[in-house]
Amino acid sequence: MDNFIADLPFVKLPVEKQKILIVDDDPSILELLNQLFQRKGYECRTAENGKKALELLETSPFTIVITDLIMPKIDGLELLKMVKESWPDTDVIVMTGYTKNFTYTDVIRAGASDFVHKPFTLDEIEAKLQRLIKERQLRHTLKRLSVRDGLTDLYNRRFFDHKLKEEVVRARRQKYPLYLLLLDIDKFKEVNDQEGHQEGDKVLVSLADTLKHSTRDHVDMLFRFGGDEFAVIIPYAEEDQAVAIAERIRSNFSKNVPLAVTLSMGLAKLDQAQEDPEKAIKKLFSEADKALYSAKKAGGNKLVVSKGS
Ligand code: GH3
Ligand code: MG
Repeated sequence: MDNFIADLPFVKLPVEKQKILIVDDDPSILELLNQLFQRKGYECRTAENGKKALELLETSPFTIVITDLIMPKIDGLELLKMVKESWPDTDVIVMTGYTKNFTYTDVIRAGASDFVHKPFTLDEIEAKLQRLIKERQLRHTLKRLSVRDGLTDLYNRRFFDHKLKEEVVRARRQKYPLYLLLLDIDKFKEVNDQEGHQEGDKVLVSLADTLKHSTRDHVDMLFRFGGDEFAVIIPYAEEDQAVAIAERIRSNFSKNVPLAVTLSMGLAKLDQAQEDPEKAIKKLFSEADKALYSAKKAGGNKLVVSKGS
């Protein structure tokens, strides 16, 4: 496949660091491949059987597993199936000398990304690995593009729907509080009309930066819905913490933004008593939205916390 996305000048490629696990009961193969991959600069580990491979996978994930098929204890096909079940994002290349027992179709159907016959040349395995890494890179980029907003690099609306569901289900299961904050810039049309669309874009980017700097890294999740509408999912927080985050955003935004622009915000808490998760999500969103609307109606530049219903 042509790497057409990588060739687009405006797409910054997030590079994925490769971590390779080689599995074979033949120590000479392990040694040979380990040396080759280390020389090429990949982080690499080896395992002499499927059991050891699973132990290593449990401790830290690998991007690519290269495994022999015929091995004692857990064989390569079994290992392949287990890897694809527990780590679906890990690619597996299968190597074997006994091709009459397993066909190319068998291993590909079981989820392998490629297949190499023993004996193979180092050039051959390296070429297959390179192709796979290129494919992973492309997948990685596509995935990123599909969940991010192009202007601000925050997550997009489509990903919000997916993420909110995931977070609500987890918060209910683990019984921790979760808040949803919706934000909308006040009179943003005027910024565009008076200062031009480019200045408007700068305000949007400035709000995204403010959100990044005013929230908890790896805990709060930031989204741009489109236009001047943004959202933050705030898990593991009581009301005073969620309010403090929102107020920090409002005050930092007024400091950061080059024009006199303000924010309206609506905050709502997930109702843990609501049995049906879909209804809980709808209620959370609608309460945050109503709170935002109240903030707008009251003249903007304020946070309204929903009292629930
Ligand atoms: P309100 O105070 O009630 O929130 O009204 P508002 O003027 O902020 O306008 P509203 O939220 O109704 O509409 C948002 C405007 O944002 C409309 C559109 O022209 C503008 N807009 C949408 N996307 C972009 C963008 O990517 N860049 C810029 N510069 N403007 C955008
Ligand atoms: Mg607006």
